[in-house]
Amino acid sequence: MIVLKNVSKRYKSGTMALSNINITIEKGEFVFLVGASGAGKSTLVKLLLKETEPTQGRIIIDNQNITKIHRRMVPYLRRKIGVVFQDFRLLPNKTVYENVAFAMEITEATPKEIRRNVPTMLGLVGLSSKAKMYPEQLSGGEQQRVSIARSIINNPPILIADEPTGNLDPETSWEIMRLLRQINRRGTTIVMATHAKEIVNMMQQRVIALDKGEIIRDEKRGGYGYED
Ligand code: ADP
Ligand code: ADP
Repeated sequence: MIVLKNVSKRYKSGTMALSNINITIEKGEFVFLVGASGAGKSTLVKLLLKETEPTQGRIIIDNQNITKIHRRMVPYLRRKIGVVFQDFRLLPNKTVYENVAFAMEITEATPKEIRRNVPTMLGLVGLSSKAKMYPEQLSGGEQQRVSIARSIINNPPILIADEPTGNLDPETSWEIMRLLRQINRRGTTIVMATHAKEIVNMMQQRVIALDKGEIIRDEKRGGYGYED
């Protein structure tokens, strides 16, 4: 589903953020991306979203070499990848329902499809009763659920979560992890960059550890493996 071949990224400043990275992620995998601050996690996420370009190497997503595609085609790439951030990034002037519906509107879904799919999705993330509320009226965990609902409403094969529990307390974090695991079990490939040591250690999923732009560990059922 995701292949990186000899990928390097050197910023204009001269920093080698990633050096000769090779990763293959199969459909349906759940992958934690760990590493100290500055290890290269965000750069890797940005490369997958085509927010930045590699200096060298190839990135293949769903059998498509994204380093070759035209800028005009980037919106289509983005539809293959749902994204969730630490700070939720919801639209403050839209309700929960509207935030999720908006993600469908921009794909030219029909009103009928939207009316059918949004309530189903809000049910899946446990927010049916909050549909008419605004983000500021919700707890952090609830806002993250909205953000997750929005990220998967168009059924992307891949979900990238960048520190999704970074602003949440431990109990709420586990609820979010349970939801992500449920989404993963339905077939979505998940890549999650995180500093949540306890979560990584408990989940026993694949762990890719970066250090100074290199992969220092790639384990099928790994742990966090270092002290922050
Ligand atoms: P992480 O997400 O693991 O903290 P990053 O990918 O943000 O790591 O950073 C990797 C390295 O690249 C760091 O040395 C960082 O300072 C550098 N870096 C990140 N973004 C930029 C940028 N836009 N320009 C120059 N250097 C950058
Ligand atoms: P799995 O079926 O793969 O175990 P789950 O989503 O049920 O997937 O849980 C993943 C891991 O997270 C399990 O090891 C589970 O024990 C742990 N876990 C789930 N919820 C909590 C929680 N509230 N506190 C601590 N660990 C939890």
